Amino acid sequence: MNAGSTPANTANPSGPEDPAALVARLRATFRTGRTRPLAWRVRQLTGLREMLTEHREDIADALHADLGKPRAEAYRSEVDFSIREIDHTLENLEEWLSPQSVDVSGVFGERASAGTQVDPLGVVLVIAPWNYPAQLLLVPVAGALAAGNAVVVKPSEMAPATSAAVARLLPRYLDTDAVAVVEGGVPETTALLAQRFDHIFYTGNGTVGRIVMRAAAEHLTPVTLELGGKSPAFVDSGVDVQEVARRLAQAKFANAGQTCVAPDYVLTDPATARALETALTEAIAQRYGADPAASDAYGRIVNERHFDRLSGLLGSGRLVTGGQTDRATKYIAPTVLGGVKPDEPVMREEIFGPVLPIVEVEGLDEAIEFINDRDKPLALYAFTEADVTRERLAAETSSGGLGFGLPMAHLSVPELPFGGVGESGLGAYHGPHSIETFSHRKARLDVPLSA
Ligand code: NAD
Repeated sequence: MNAGSTPANTANPSGPEDPAALVARLRATFRTGRTRPLAWRVRQLTGLREMLTEHREDIADALHADLGKPRAEAYRSEVDFSIREIDHTLENLEEWLSPQSVDVSGVFGERASAGTQVDPLGVVLVIAPWNYPAQLLLVPVAGALAAGNAVVVKPSEMAPATSAAVARLLPRYLDTDAVAVVEGGVPETTALLAQRFDHIFYTGNGTVGRIVMRAAAEHLTPVTLELGGKSPAFVDSGVDVQEVARRLAQAKFANAGQTCVAPDYVLTDPATARALETALTEAIAQRYGADPAASDAYGRIVNERHFDRLSGLLGSGRLVTGGQTDRATKYIAPTVLGGVKPDEPVMREEIFGPVLPIVEVEGLDEAIEFINDRDKPLALYAFTEADVTRERLAAETSSGGLGFGLPMAHLSVPELPFGGVGESGLGAYHGPHSIETFSHRKARLDVPLSA
């Protein structure tokens, strides 16, 4: 089970390891060259896969304890999502790692050769958030291991059951000389950030993203920042609003809206807005029944702080459906707000919860202006039948990803880079893009000594 290491974490039987000693220990392993061979990388990925399959239920239990995450959702968006990413990597890794050559014969003669080779970086730090606390931790870890790095794994303290499960399970399946889990909150992360890493991969909010980047700058360490923001959904006139409403509800209310790429708000014209309000009310009832609190397909808010924050946003605009809350169980009903004005509280911050405001605009021109007046979002969605609308949105706006017709689906395509731009992040991962993120593509030129 333990993939190619000394048994268990014997380096540290009596409590948390000092961060400097921990990084030194992992770096020493990296410098032996042990993590470079394809066989080691495959063993780690296979180990991770085994952990996810053998402990599906344990992980789903932990996700339920942390977020009331419905079991089907836990499998779909965390466990199986991570397994699919690992499988895709296992299938393609050898090809992704193969050196590429360029022709230099015209410059240096027939016997000269040149190309690039893909080198691991060294010791990587992965810091994960609480909303998809397994997937957003394990998929970057898989990428860092596939690229041949040693990894310090930092789960979110705000998802304590998942954090504990990962800390317990990961060392049983991975090379503990090269992979270590550090649990904890701000003090522990701050202590880690003082160390020199070869890459830091952070998923979370922009405020902490800045802290991470500042700390990284001290060591000239490259960073990937997977951040959030308000992802708009433009609904064109003349579309099938029932179908749009079903797809919007599915994306918005999964994980009780606590998804970085969830549609944050809708932009549409006044007539479509009216029809959409009715259709969303029906779509929510169809999905979660008359009382979503009783539905086993609906999650809860992560903690009281976020519950209180979200409750404060429910007064914006006009209540179309939902609005019920229960602090004891951290329940907030799937809620739609109509006729919301751009300066109301719900439009001033990333919602990150089950509240969907509809903002009315005259049409595409105003929608594009509205989007471009704000921070570049992590995703932009649009429902339209018009190619010209697609092309204009693609050409005239900037966002991490662009999805027509099916919100959030782009991130399940491993060949597509997943990442933000501007305030929504820096860098990308998934599939081959993880290899690029966690590797250095080294230029290599070989000119013979004799002619
Ligand atoms: P969080 O509070 O769990 O924080 C993420 C990590 O940062 C944790 O491991 C935490 O320990 C660490 N951290 C927190 N404060 C710190 C500090 N002062 N110094 C050092 N480390 C610190 O997660 P969050 O930020 O609440 O997550 C929600 C945000 O993340 C939203 O903005 C969301 O859009 C974004 N997000 C983005 C993605 C993406 O893939 N782009 C995915 C999920 C969430």
